[in-house]
Amino acid sequence: MVTAIDAIAGIKSGQISCETLIAEIYERIERSKLNCYITLTRESALEEARDVDKRYAEPDFQRKTLLGVPIAIKDSISTAGIQTTCASRILTGYVPPYDATVIEALKREGAIIIGKTNMDEFCMGTSTETSYYGPTKNPHDLTRVPGGSSGGSAAAVAAGEALIALGSDTGGSIRCPASFCGIVGLKPTYGFVSRYGLIAYANSLEQIGPIATTVKDTALLLDVIAARDWRDSTQVKVKTEGPSNYHCSWLNETGIVPGDAISGLRIGVPREFFEGCDPEVARAIWNSIHKFEELGATYEELSMRNMKYALAAYYVIAMSEASSNLARFDGLRYGLREGKDEDWHTTFSRIRGDGFGEEVKRRIILGTYALSAGYYGKYYLKALKVRTLIKREFEEALKTHDILAMPTMPFVAFKLGERIQDPLSLYLADVNTVSINLAGVPSISIPCGFSHNMPIGLQLVGRYFEEDLILRVAEAYEQRGS
Ligand code: GLN
Repeated sequence: MVTAIDAIAGIKSGQISCETLIAEIYERIERSKLNCYITLTRESALEEARDVDKRYAEPDFQRKTLLGVPIAIKDSISTAGIQTTCASRILTGYVPPYDATVIEALKREGAIIIGKTNMDEFCMGTSTETSYYGPTKNPHDLTRVPGGSSGGSAAAVAAGEALIALGSDTGGSIRCPASFCGIVGLKPTYGFVSRYGLIAYANSLEQIGPIATTVKDTALLLDVIAARDWRDSTQVKVKTEGPSNYHCSWLNETGIVPGDAISGLRIGVPREFFEGCDPEVARAIWNSIHKFEELGATYEELSMRNMKYALAAYYVIAMSEASSNLARFDGLRYGLREGKDEDWHTTFSRIRGDGFGEEVKRRIILGTYALSAGYYGKYYLKALKVRTLIKREFEEALKTHDILAMPTMPFVAFKLGERIQDPLSLYLADVNTVSINLAGVPSISIPCGFSHNMPIGLQLVGRYFEEDLILRVAEAYEQRGS
């Protein structure tokens, strides 16, 4: 499959027909057994593609950073005029009247939306098995999960059913499926990308981010979606409106990363992230670290003692925020509205009872409990204190190290059905990803080998707003390491 950067160059020079490229992708989707998509936008996509083929030479079109690139969008991101379900029955049929800021940015830069991808219901899960629309399968092995919750986006990119995709990451939902599907996924620093139009699961933790087959495509997409937005007050002003060629700033003319990307780099390797990790996964991560050493980096093992509390703190905070966010789904304003209206309590309960899946209900109940009078201090407040300790520990570790390296997931993709009956075992799978959301630091997952023929993901964590460095290091590894 062609990369997004090559496709754009081909389209801009008239060597690639955008319509043919997109028609081929739809053919692949039609034949696919993966179930990556909830909604396809074939007609509008092909129409836009024909327009690109006609007008690509116009200066306005030549200026568009993502001209003609077919992109898949996670179904938690609002798209005007296109059904947006969050993979839940309760939002089936809901068509947002507006675009998320990231979607506006993609359209401005000429990307073509080919569909909305499958995910865990309301982003709650690690395997894309809680979707109302059935699970997505892993392109490397159809009996295994693609990871979650952005499983549809990751599987689509890995299988050539889209060139690039957007996911959202609250506790690992971009990095986990990127790791399980053998591709690249980046969770930006909290506040880097606007969340306006992202259907909220846990606001204080989540970010929209890019999923792609190469680091350069990831950087290019990040550059576009990080557009400044006054509608998200948590966004930090780090760059100006529109693409800044941020992705190019670390590449020289030949496209090769300058030699200093890795030489002198100080890598921290926190021991806690290897506890309970599959030995083959750990070996692959260590091989990558030694590769970095050969390329001129130094590494040091370190300890981050509070990491053992991360999962508990994350789930208390995420579920508490979710219980409050999901109160808006009452059947009156959005989506599902069936049966006869009775008194408010009965109707509200029936719609929510029918509309939400089991995992969503479990989390609403647990979150409501954690926030209730008498328990608030014991659970929610305590979790917030732990969060501060975790944040400090990352800040400390990143004072003396430029980057931290560890496995994204402690194991490779597991079998469909293997963990879904036991929610706790699924929560435990997030052990290496959630602390990063609690701290708000940026992190990328890149492929670094195979175990049992399934891909392994290397996770690199950086300082706040140092996406640039993470991408440079990842790019150097992609070019020379693997
Ligand atoms: N698996 C985690 C959860 O279920 C993270 C999901 C996410 O990042 N959206 O909460």
